[in-house]
Amino acid sequence: MTSVALGMPRPRVDPLRPASLEGRPDTAELVDKFGRVARDLRVSVTEKCSLRCTYCMPEEGLAPIARDDLLTPLEIGRLVGLAWRELGIREVRFTGGEPLMRVDLAEIIARSADAAPGIRIALTTNAIGLDHRLPALVAAGLQRVNISLDTVDRAHFAELTRRDRLDAVLAGIRAARDAGLTPLKLNAVLMRSTLPDAVELLAWAVAEGVQLRFIEQMPLDADEAWKRDEMVAAAELLAVLGSRFSLTEHGRDDPSAPAEEWLVDGGPATVGIIASVTRSFCADCDRTRITAEGTVRSCLFAHEEVDLRGLLRGGGSDADLALAWRAAMWNKQAGHGIDAAGFTRPERSMGAIGG
Ligand code: SAM
Ligand code: SF4
Repeated sequence: MTSVALGMPRPRVDPLRPASLEGRPDTAELVDKFGRVARDLRVSVTEKCSLRCTYCMPEEGLAPIARDDLLTPLEIGRLVGLAWRELGIREVRFTGGEPLMRVDLAEIIARSADAAPGIRIALTTNAIGLDHRLPALVAAGLQRVNISLDTVDRAHFAELTRRDRLDAVLAGIRAARDAGLTPLKLNAVLMRSTLPDAVELLAWAVAEGVQLRFIEQMPLDADEAWKRDEMVAAAELLAVLGSRFSLTEHGRDDPSAPAEEWLVDGGPATVGIIASVTRSFCADCDRTRITAEGTVRSCLFAHEEVDLRGLLRGGGSDADLALAWRAAMWNKQAGHGIDAAGFTRPERSMGAIGG
């Protein structure tokens, strides 16, 4: 056991111990024991955030990561390049914490675009300050953004995020749409306090020409307040939306897409639901994650991480890094197991993993 930043001791796996690769086929891709292949890379770039959403962060924010412990733009670029060239990754999404809190985010994107020409580059953000940052980010290579917005009721927004910043978020959303970063997707976490706002939020998204997706809340809040029998399930949301809109089931864009889509009032507007808990899509998961401190997480709910930063800084070759990453993914668990007896949450909360 090693103690690391964020105040959270976590077990680390020795990626190069032979047992961690036992039974693995000789393939370059990030395969796991259940036949899944990772194509989608999430890179967390910070634990800092301009909001304090109750389903994610503690009120005081996460314990700061020492600056030297964060991966640099050069190191992130090296990992993204390796993932693209050697490991079959086709998309990278920067997240956090709030990625816009990194002043060098444009450099992170530019280094990644240089190292992995052709990779799709996306950002998940709360959009605060995005209107000012967007030109530089797009020039660096940013292609897509997902923005988190749970309600357009100002008082409810301030209560849920513990910050009165709705106007800044809306300005960021409009800037992204006007810059032509389409399809622009909004993510809303389903919470009991904002469920009554869901109809108004969808009406707003349809009017603004952005795609809204609701996400079931997962037990990844730092406050550990999540309760299975109190969470809002997708079925409950559908009943609420159905009272105002006519919804026609439309399916998924592809099997690994987490959102099931419905046409709103006959389309073309759609609404998506990511039923991560009640209709888990773990069997089709194609994600791999790198934390802000440079460890691989094979699953949001993993209890183990593989350290790549030590290899990066210790003179490790690309082959060493690739081997460690492959071993981490080979040992990916079957699913989140939220409904299984004996389920335990990971030690990191969502903001410390990178959602
Ligand atoms: N700060 C950025 C943002 O909010 O978009 C990026 C990081 S945030 C952790 C990434 C995504 O995770 C957001 O869409 C957020 O709503 C979602 N999220 C956070 N906590 C969650 C939870 N407990 N269950 C489900 N989704 C969650
Ligand atoms: Fe910050 Fe995003 Fe977590 Fe909200 S969901 S606290 S914006 S990291």
